[in-house]
Amino acid sequence: MAISLTFDVDAESGWLGEDPAYEQRLSTLSEARYGITRGLPRILDILDRHGIKGTFYVPGYTAELHPEAIKRIHDEGHELGHHGHMHLRSDTATEAQQREEIERGLEALAPLATPTGYRSPSWELTPTTLQLLHDHGFTYDSSLMGDDRPYTLDNGLLEIPVHWSLDDWPHLHWKAGRGDAFTSPQAFLDTWLREFESAVRDRRHITFTMHPEVIGRGYRAQLLEELITAIKDRADAWFATHGDVAAFVVS
Ligand SMILES: [Zn+2]
Repeated sequence: MAISLTFDVDAESGWLGEDPAYEQRLSTLSEARYGITRGLPRILDILDRHGIKGTFYVPGYTAELHPEAIKRIHDEGHELGHHGHMHLRSDTATEAQQREEIERGLEALAPLATPTGYRSPSWELTPTTLQLLHDHGFTYDSSLMGDDRPYTLDNGLLEIPVHWSLDDWPHLHWKAGRGDAFTSPQAFLDTWLREFESAVRDRRHITFTMHPEVIGRGYRAQLLEELITAIKDRADAWFATHGDVAAFVVS
């Protein structure tokens, strides 16, 4: 079986892309920045200790605002994936905006890498998005939920599926006024481990999704370490980047 640890390095882009009024909301922006200053180094240290390569989906704006942080990801041998430019949701963007998101995101990452994979912001995409990915030569997408194994889309793109329940954001990210609550760290780890047990039985691949400002807080980073240790103790699992998975499935 194979495991992919994936990280969406949204930082400030998600908030500013949603509403420029967030420029005035310094607390929200500071939490986003924490992902770069504290979360990301912690995550990279954990992956390094365990000899694991991850896939980091980086919006173009994040790459422009935090070049050193994104360069470290690349220099340590992890995969960089495309995650829009201002993290605009495809379903709320015009076709021209969608094209701009794809092209500016590619330009921002170009000094480091040409990503072969895409993950749509907030996991919404439209038929236009799929056409744009095809036109720009992407190999795979990781935004849809139509299976729990990689599958092929009608336009030939490989889909490496995700699920909200395996994403740290809905469990552990709290936003003022949204009315949600935090899942306890132990309950979230239990969710991950139950999915892992199910995947061992099925002999299939799993994608776990995380955000540096969420999983990168001290006590939560321990969850990531406990997950990795539990997986290594239980099974001979292959920790693969999404690029590795795409190459394996296509070959
Ligand atoms: Zn995102």
